[in-house]
Amino acid sequence: MSDLIRLRNLTVTYERHPAVHHISGGFAAGSLTAIAGPNGAGKSTLLKAIVGELRPAEGSIDRGALARNDFGYLPQAADIVRRFPISVADTVMLGAWKSAGAFGRFSRKDAERARDALDVVGLSGFENRHIGSLSAGQFQRVLFARLLLQDARVILLDEPFTAIDQRTTRDLLDLVLRWNREGRTVITVLHDFEQVRAHFPETLLLARELVGWGKTREVMSPANLVKARAMAERWDEAAEECLTEDEQDNRNVAKREPAE
Ligand code: ADP
Ligand code: MG
Repeated sequence: MSDLIRLRNLTVTYERHPAVHHISGGFAAGSLTAIAGPNGAGKSTLLKAIVGELRPAEGSIDRGALARNDFGYLPQAADIVRRFPISVADTVMLGAWKSAGAFGRFSRKDAERARDALDVVGLSGFENRHIGSLSAGQFQRVLFARLLLQDARVILLDEPFTAIDQRTTRDLLDLVLRWNREGRTVITVLHDFEQVRAHFPETLLLARELVGWGKTREVMSPANLVKARAMAERWDEAAEECLTEDEQDNRNVAKREPAE
């Protein structure tokens, strides 16, 4: 298999603070990869860089002939606003903007496809419900229906099963595996190692730097997991010393105050 997406010495920073450093490697066309690593490891940052929401500070991402709308991206739940007064059906049809065009209208065909997609995720009859009225699991099903409609070649999911009930997780995981069987390239951030080992042939283990990237069995070794954790502990400790100027001032004031 040839690489569909290649990372070359990729570094992504927030205001010059690197969140992921010097990542090199490739996602093969049609591969199914889990991204694993401790909190703050840079997993979400890496996905955002791959879809083009963040630009590399150093290095590059080679996406070959892929265009922006070849990527179907589901951000982490915390990044998704659910307060828009919009119905389930309209939310799903937003996945069809590729065919509708930026100012286009949704066709009757899009509405039919949206209904079919809702049927696949088990939400027939929910078309007119306000998205704010759904449970977390139901809302995640809606977002998967939208991805179905989008029909992208590359699908990136950021912790799609966090805080989602078991039944929904099982149903949506089946959909992820089906997408991969259809030949799509799937990259999913996951924190459940059992899920990773059971279903994902490839793993990218990240702790700001690459700990390992390749066959899941080899990458998710006890030694690598210990290493990833040790790296995370190092940056937790370092965070103590990285106070902003205001924080340092506050701390100095606190120190100077006499304990009477
Ligand atoms: P993960 O998804 O693995 O938990 P993230 O990619 O969200 O990690 O974050 C990696 C690092 O970048 C963390 O230290 C986080 O605080 C920092 N970070 C994430 N988003 C931003 C942002 N918008 N601005 C500044 N720092 C950020
Ligand atoms: Mg994250």
